[in-house]
Amino acid sequence: MMRKPFVCGNWKLNHNLAETRSILGEMKNSLAGVQQVEYAIAPVATVLAAACEQVKGSALHIAAQNVFYEKKGAFTGEWSVAHLTELGCDYAIVGHSERRALFNESDEIVARKVKACMEGDLIPIACFGENLQQRESDLVKSVVTAQVKSILGVVDSEAAERLILAYEPIWAIGTGKTATAEQAQEVHMLVRALITDQFGQSVAEKIRIIYGGSVNADNAATLMAQKDIDGLLVGGASLSTASFCSIVKSASVLRA
Ligand code: PEP
Repeated sequence: MMRKPFVCGNWKLNHNLAETRSILGEMKNSLAGVQQVEYAIAPVATVLAAACEQVKGSALHIAAQNVFYEKKGAFTGEWSVAHLTELGCDYAIVGHSERRALFNESDEIVARKVKACMEGDLIPIACFGENLQQRESDLVKSVVTAQVKSILGVVDSEAAERLILAYEPIWAIGTGKTATAEQAQEVHMLVRALITDQFGQSVAEKIRIIYGGSVNADNAATLMAQKDIDGLLVGGASLSTASFCSIVKSASVLRA
């Protein structure tokens, strides 16, 4: 079973409408013809409609940075899976550590969002990962296991293959400190074993587990050389065309 690598750029609260149009246009052109890799950009919510229009017909996909789990009702300020799919979004980042920390998203909320995406036509990029204190206290395995089990618990085995899991050690996000390829591989291997326990080996071999945390054009290939790293979630280095496209190109190798 071959897994197609997936690279997503998370623009966070950066780039206005004009910048979004211009950079997506450049990325689309620069990546035309690059195969064996799926790639997406997650811009600010207010420019999602324009972004989806801009990439229509190309291999560049659009992801939302967040989504709510309810379909409709009195939830001021939120948007649903259907609102995103009607624009043309294909993915949503769910449970990013910034949302967990700054917007109090618990494992339960993250799981509900993953479930809503799976029930709709949106692929969740479900994030998990330990903080520095947890790593230094030797808690990586227990923290990651609890977070991943909570996500897997709401996914049914038929849809499971669509899920994308993103290991993002919090101490590596935006800090310039990347996990070593071996540190990342160790966690990705653990996560693949958790998936095997829950869904069996054939599903575990299909689910993509991507890594995020200070990925850049220089370290992307080394990370991607690890057996269980199936793609990259990229913050800072996705803001410019040159570095994002270089990362996507380094990732364009099918995973056995
Ligand atoms: C992220 O925000 O998901 C991220 C990985 O950021 P950075 O690449 O800047 O560390």
